[in-house]
Amino acid sequence: MNSTTQRRIALISVHGDPAIEIGKEEAGGQNVYVRNVGEALGQLGWQVDMFTRKVSAKQETIVQHSENCRTIRLQAGSLEFVPRDDLFEYLPEFIDNFLKFQTENGFTYSLIHTNYWLSSWVGMELKKIQGSKQVHTYHSLGAVKYNTIEDIPLIANQRLTVEKEVLETAERIVATSPQEKEHMRELVSLEGNIDIIPCGTDIRQFGCIDRVAARAELGIASDAKLVLYVGRFDPRKGIETLVRAVAESKLGKNENLQLIIGGGSRPGQSDGIERDRIESIVKELGISDITTFPGRLTQEILPTYYAAADVSVVASHYEPFGLVAIEAMACSTPVVASDVGGLQYTVVPEETGLLAPPQDVPAFAAAIDRILGNPEWAEKLGKGGRKRVESKFSWDGVATQLSELYTELLQPTAKELVQSTAELVQSTAKLPVKELVQSTAELVQSTAKKSVLVAK
Ligand code: UDP
Repeated sequence: MNSTTQRRIALISVHGDPAIEIGKEEAGGQNVYVRNVGEALGQLGWQVDMFTRKVSAKQETIVQHSENCRTIRLQAGSLEFVPRDDLFEYLPEFIDNFLKFQTENGFTYSLIHTNYWLSSWVGMELKKIQGSKQVHTYHSLGAVKYNTIEDIPLIANQRLTVEKEVLETAERIVATSPQEKEHMRELVSLEGNIDIIPCGTDIRQFGCIDRVAARAELGIASDAKLVLYVGRFDPRKGIETLVRAVAESKLGKNENLQLIIGGGSRPGQSDGIERDRIESIVKELGISDITTFPGRLTQEILPTYYAAADVSVVASHYEPFGLVAIEAMACSTPVVASDVGGLQYTVVPEETGLLAPPQDVPAFAAAIDRILGNPEWAEKLGKGGRKRVESKFSWDGVATQLSELYTELLQPTAKELVQSTAELVQSTAKLPVKELVQSTAELVQSTAKKSVLVAK
């Protein structure tokens, strides 16, 4: 293997296009993760190709993000958006086009990092076809998700089977929190190799503006008590818990309370059943006058919203990691989050924010009130959050850990070394004496080099 192929990596994210706008439809944390990991790995010298499914004829097939990092869109099924639960049947075509891309470009990816269960199936097939090594990040576990929703989709069994198989066969699984690793062991399988490498955030962008400047930019009064939600409209996100908690907030009765619910489509456009449902609850609770729905917020404007807020609330029923929490913390804003999943890892109660049981409206209302009612303490929590993100959750740090993992996996295993040595011995047995002496010397030299690599 030469050094160019050694530093090449394919990130596969069939349904989460790293090059599209975030915050709409099914675009969320996975898209942000793949894009940022890809760009940061590119900075570290990896040739990063991020493969996703093309959903419209208008989309470019290849988007070059930076010198070493690009998104490649492959066709699988017709060129239209297909919900992720209906995508499985198109994966064989995705693989065919992936193989075609390799052939046309004259290289094979020795290492593939797959994202979400659909892509994990693609990775497992590529391992069978061409021996690629596989790293996998789940982003969401069916075994956990199906415990928190009522309508179990038809694809559920297929997903659970694939999720077990990839855990047991991938060279390495990346859990983004200790809690996610525990869930894999408890609910999926005791076999397989798991490393914990968290998700990250851009600590230069998130944290680049202070509260006074942010409020001036957004036209928010300096004495307002601002509660913020950022994310997709999905019942799992617990926006209902948040709006009910805000309506219950004691401070809201006599102070200038405001609620911003960011994400989804632009105002006036429908964003599916959940957006309509939340709006009608807001009306019913009589808090329409203090609630705004600004629609999708770009990654560029988001730091201003987080910085302007007194508290950022993540009331998800379940959250494998929850990027929004660390983005808010990076902007020195305290977080009130559900006491579940990755949020238990990112948010440290009384240090960077507070945790409350999921769907517990009075507990969320009390936690929001505690923070809004104690500005000095809230500032301390904000600083604690920023410190925690700087030390644990920067994309640069995350990419460095992934890069070390990839490098380790690309080195030949002891078994591969024995095999290649045996092949060499076999071929030298047929040589005349002079050439035999020469090739034995070369063999000794190359084995010594490989042993050093393995020892590292
Ligand atoms: N996001 C955004 N604009 C929006 C709403 C969300 O850019 O209007 C981003 C948000 O900043 C975060 C991601 O979408 O990076 C959501 O990730 P998270 O892990 O919190 O939730 P997921 O969507 O994966 O369930």
